[in-house]
Amino acid sequence: MPAAVYVGNGEMTVRDLAIPTLGPSDALVEVSHCGICGTDLHLVLEKYARPDSILGHEWAGTIAAVGDDVQGWEIGARVVQNPTLGCGECRACKRGRPSVCLRREPPDLLDFTHGAFCRYKVVPSARLVRVPDSLSTRAAALTEPTAIAIHTVNLSGAQPGDRVLVTGGGPVGLLTTAVLRARGIDDVTVSEPAPLRRERARAVGASRVIEPGDLPRAPMGRPVAEPYTIAFECSGNAAAAESAFDQLDYAGTLVFVGTGHEMPRINHNRAIVLELTIVAAFNYDIEGFAPALELLASGRLPLDALIEADDVLLDDVLATMHRLAAGELPGKVMVRPEVKT
Ligand SMILES: [Zn+2]
Ligand SMILES: [Zn+2]
Repeated sequence: MPAAVYVGNGEMTVRDLAIPTLGPSDALVEVSHCGICGTDLHLVLEKYARPDSILGHEWAGTIAAVGDDVQGWEIGARVVQNPTLGCGECRACKRGRPSVCLRREPPDLLDFTHGAFCRYKVVPSARLVRVPDSLSTRAAALTEPTAIAIHTVNLSGAQPGDRVLVTGGGPVGLLTTAVLRARGIDDVTVSEPAPLRRERARAVGASRVIEPGDLPRAPMGRPVAEPYTIAFECSGNAAAAESAFDQLDYAGTLVFVGTGHEMPRINHNRAIVLELTIVAAFNYDIEGFAPALELLASGRLPLDALIEADDVLLDDVLATMHRLAAGELPGKVMVRPEVKT
């Protein structure tokens, strides 16, 4: 099967690999589409990934074979793979944070031996989740990042009536904005330097789009003239995080969503005087992917604006990553696991 493989030093190549072997309780899934994630960009372009890794974790596909002990799943079923859920009982799980369950092994954040920038994946059947009939398999590849956006919005405590700022109009910021709107939170401003992304932010439901320079510096010890109750920092940019923090109203909340190289400087005095909260969202809610599939299938998300119209093949994954990093493609790019003929 063809696979886009990270070979080291920021380079990728397409290799012909053996189809992975199936255990008795596994399903072999033919990947339909796999989205390119900001994490993939960090791993490849910043050279964190281990050579021979197959990246890509935002996928949906069709069952091509099932192991002898598998029950309830048939060839042709359209599926995504649920995350490993937390124990549900530890302190982290009880506080709605199963992705940092205290009873799990510390994760190996660089383990990408079984990614989905390839034709086939083996999935334990217990982890399979069926894609609803009304949702295309291609759009179902948006399940994983949608589950993250839902978790992010849940952790923020955002409610209709909140005045929300989203810094960064890339795929994460766009999806967060769309989920906020689907939840009835209508006052959402997106701050983003790239005109193309600002335009797309409007298309996914931002009520206002601005440039980072439009956000004022905060006066000492009190809010800016038009403060926000919640800010989602989706860019991973240190200056954006510092600015987002400056825009918060009394008892406001900053949510870290985007990762980045440089670390922001947070004014703790301001946090104290305004009683600000900082939270950070890593992965998913205890419900796993079901709520994300439900939301995607509901028709309440602007899928055409969230997903780039043109899919790419395995040969073009690296070039597309460079284009994404340059801000040339505002939405989620889907990879089809085929090679150019
Ligand atoms: Zn991702
Ligand atoms: Zn737990």
